[in-house]
Amino acid sequence: MAKKSANVCVVKHWQDAPKLDESTLNDDLMRHFYYTLGRDKVGESQLYLYHALALTIRDRLVARCRATNQYLKEKKTRKAAYLSLEFLMGRALGNAVLNLDLQQGTQQALEQYCTELERVGEAEHDAGLGNGGLGRLAACFLDSCASLALPVVGYGIRYEYGMFNQMIEHGHQVEQPDNWLREGHPWELSAPEQAQRVKFFGHVETFRDRNGREHRQWIDTQDVLAVPYDVPIPGYQNGVVNTLRLWKSEATDEFDLSEFNAGSYSEAVARKNLAEQITMVLYPNDTSENGKELRLRQQYFLSSASLQDVLIQWVEQYGANFSDFAQYHVFQLNDTHPSIAVAELMRLFVDVYEMDWGDAWQITTKTMAYTNHTLLPEALEKWSVPLFQKLLPRLLEIIYEINARFLAQVALHWPGDVNKQRELSLIEEGAVPQIRMAYLAIVGSYSINGVAALHTELLKSGLFKTFYELWPEKFNNKTNGVTPRRWLAHCNPKLSALISTKIGTQWVADFSQIEKLRRYYDDPEFHKQWQEVKRANKQHLCAMVKQRCGVDFDENMMFDVQVKRIHEYKRQLLNVLHVIHLYDRILKGDVEGMAPRCVLIGGKAAPGYYMAKKIIKLINNVADVINSDEKAKPYLRVAFFPNYNVTAMEAICPATDLSEQISTAGKEASGTGNMKFMMNGAITIGTLDGANIEIRDNVGADNFFLFGAHAEQTEAIRSHYNPEHLITQDPNLKAVMNLLQSGHFNLLEPNIFDDIISAIKSPSDQWLVAHDFASYVEAQQKASDTYLDSSTWTRISILNTAASGSFSSDRTIQQYCDEIWRLAPMQ
Ligand SMILES: *Cc1c(COP(=O)(O)O)cnc(C)c1O
Repeated sequence: MAKKSANVCVVKHWQDAPKLDESTLNDDLMRHFYYTLGRDKVGESQLYLYHALALTIRDRLVARCRATNQYLKEKKTRKAAYLSLEFLMGRALGNAVLNLDLQQGTQQALEQYCTELERVGEAEHDAGLGNGGLGRLAACFLDSCASLALPVVGYGIRYEYGMFNQMIEHGHQVEQPDNWLREGHPWELSAPEQAQRVKFFGHVETFRDRNGREHRQWIDTQDVLAVPYDVPIPGYQNGVVNTLRLWKSEATDEFDLSEFNAGSYSEAVARKNLAEQITMVLYPNDTSENGKELRLRQQYFLSSASLQDVLIQWVEQYGANFSDFAQYHVFQLNDTHPSIAVAELMRLFVDVYEMDWGDAWQITTKTMAYTNHTLLPEALEKWSVPLFQKLLPRLLEIIYEINARFLAQVALHWPGDVNKQRELSLIEEGAVPQIRMAYLAIVGSYSINGVAALHTELLKSGLFKTFYELWPEKFNNKTNGVTPRRWLAHCNPKLSALISTKIGTQWVADFSQIEKLRRYYDDPEFHKQWQEVKRANKQHLCAMVKQRCGVDFDENMMFDVQVKRIHEYKRQLLNVLHVIHLYDRILKGDVEGMAPRCVLIGGKAAPGYYMAKKIIKLINNVADVINSDEKAKPYLRVAFFPNYNVTAMEAICPATDLSEQISTAGKEASGTGNMKFMMNGAITIGTLDGANIEIRDNVGADNFFLFGAHAEQTEAIRSHYNPEHLITQDPNLKAVMNLLQSGHFNLLEPNIFDDIISAIKSPSDQWLVAHDFASYVEAQQKASDTYLDSSTWTRISILNTAASGSFSSDRTIQQYCDEIWRLAPMQ
C-alpha cells in the first residue's frame, strides 16, 4: 500500500481506498455514530446523528477532493482564486447529499434511527459567514464552479462568530452573537502545517544586498499566523470536489522576550488573544463601511495569507520564476474588501521574490480582476493614511509608488490637467488623507465588472466614468445568478419532482433547459399540479410563521414577501405604507376587488443603522395592530420573520406568490433574492433596477408588475422633490400619513416614528418613497386582480420559472470563465 520515496512515505491513496458509495453508507454511519463519536442513543436534537451523517458524507467528499487536488498538482493548468471576505454558505448537509446523489441511500440508512434527512438536517447551524447578497453570491459561485468542473479555490475568513442572530423584543431588533462553531463544524479539515505568517505594524528600512542593490525591508513586525481550514465544495454529480479555504488567525509561538524576562510570563501569553481577535467576528454592515482598524486587519490578513498560499504552491512546483505566473493564475476580488491584494502581491514579488517593479506590475495587472457590487457612496471603502502608516507601513509605500506611476500615466493622457490627477489619485486629499480602495482595485486589475446590465452602465457613466475613458477595454458586465441546485432542486423538492416529470432531470445540471416548461403553461392538468405544490409549500411556511412570529397565515391568501437586508434604498418602508393603505381601505369598508393577502417581511438591520432599526419596529407595530383587528383578518395578515438567513430563505421562496423587489431605481446593483423567487414561480412586483430589468425582459412585460421612477429620471425628480405636495395631492397617501401621524400604530409609544415620518416628507429623501407610492399602489392592485384569476396567475407563475434559465449562476460563471478567467474545465 505504501510506497517509500526518499524520506517521504506516500500512502497509495484514493485508487486503492475502499469504494465509498451508497452500499457502504449504512455501515459508515453506524461506525461514526458508535465509534468516532462514541454514542449509543439518538437524542431529541439528533445532533450526534447529524454529526455522524456529516462525517459519513465528508468521507466521500474527501476522497474526491484529493483526486481534484492531485489533478491540479499534476497538470499545469490555469486556476482562479475567488477572494471574498464573505461566504454565506448556509447549511451543507442537504446540498452535499443532493450533489453526491446520495438521497435514497441516506434516507434508507436513517430509517434504522427512526428519523429522516430533513429532521436530522435541522441540527446543522447555518455557516453565516456573510451579510447578504454579496456573501451568498460567493457561495452560489463556488457551487457553480465545482459543478462546471472549473479549477477554482475560494479563499475567505473562518469567523468564530458569523452574522448575528436577530431576535425581536417588543418589536425591536436585538442582536445575539452567532456562536456557530460551538457544537463543532464537521465539514472542515484544518491544515496547520500550511499556516502562513502575516505581518502587521513595525517599520521599513532600506538595506543594500551584496550586489549593492537596494531593498526595502519591513521589520520589527508583529506577526500573526493564518491557519487554513478547508471546506469541501462538491460539484453536482460530476465527481469534482473543490475547496473553500478559510483562514483562522492564531498567535505565533514566539513570546515577547522582554516581557518574559521581566517576569510577565502570563501577560505575554495573554497577548496571544490579540492575534486571535482578527478572525473573531464578521462585521455586520451590509453596504456601508465603518472604518474600524480591525476590519482593515481582516482584509489584509485574508489577502496576504491567500496570496502567500498560492505563491508558495507555485514555487514548490515551478521554482521562484514567475515569468508565466499570470498565464496560470487569476485572482477575482469580490468587491473592494480584498483590494489590498493588489499591493500585497507587489510586495511579495518585489520584497520577497526580489523582482523588478516593472516585471512585478506587469504580472500583477494581468492577474487581478475586480467585481464592483454597489454604487452607494457610503459603501466605497477608504482607509486613512495614518492608519495605514501604523498598521501596514510597507503597503503604504507600495500604494504611493503605484499611485505615482499611475498619475504619470494620467498626466500623459490628459496633459496639463491637474484636476484629472487629483480626481483619479488613489489618495484623496483632505485634513486626513484617505486611500481609495476601489481605485487601487481598478488600477491594479485587467477586468472590472458590474453585476447587472444597468449597474455596469451606471459604473461606466457615473462612478468610474473617467477610468472608463482611460481604459474602456477593462470594463464588462456579469449579471449575477443563483445556483439552481440549492435554490430549486434542494429547497423545493415538490416543484422539482413535478418539473422533472415533464422535462426530465437534466435541468438541474443544465438550467437553460428549464425553458421547456413553457410548453405546459396552458395545460390545465399541469396548472392543478403546480397549484398543489405551491399550496403545500405555503402550508409548510404557515407552520413556521406561526411558530416564529405567532401569526396565523392562511395558505388560501396571496403570500406577498419581502426578505432581504433592511436598508432605506430597498424601501421596506414603501411596502409598509402599502400595507397601511390596504388596512385603511379595510377600515373604510373598501374591500371590493382586494385579494386577501399575507404580507411577510424579514431581514437584519446593521446594529448601528438607526433608520433601518426604526423600520423594523414600524413593521412589527403595524403587524400587531392589523393582526389584532378582526375586521382585517379576512383580508390582511402581516408578520415580521425574525433572523432571516439562508435556511429561512429555503423555506420562504418556494412558498411565495408575490416577490417584492422595490428598491429606488439605480440603487440595487443586481439583487439575487429576485432570482430565487422567480425560479420558484413567484411573480415580481418591482422597479426597473438591477437584474429586475433583465428578469422583466426575459419573462415579458405582461408577466411582471412594474412601477416607479426610472433610474435616468431620478436625478431630475430629486432636484425639485416636494413630498408634502405629493401627500396633499394623493388621498391614499394622505390617509396613510394621517394614520401614521395620529399615532395609530404607537399609541403607548408616543413619537417613536417621528423620524420615519419626517424622512418620507423630506425634500431630500433620496429614496423617493412618496414619489413612487401611487404607482406602487396601482401595480399592487394589478397583482391583486391577477391573483383573483387563479388560472392567469398560475400561467404567469409557470412562465416565470420557465424564463429563469439565465439566472442560474452556472450561466454567470460560464461568462466569468469565458471572458475573464479563461479556464478549461478539469477532465
Ligand atoms: C439571496 C439572499 C440575500 C440577497 O437578497 P437580495 O434580495 O438580493 O438583497 C440576502 N440574504 C440571504 C440570506 C439570501 O439568501
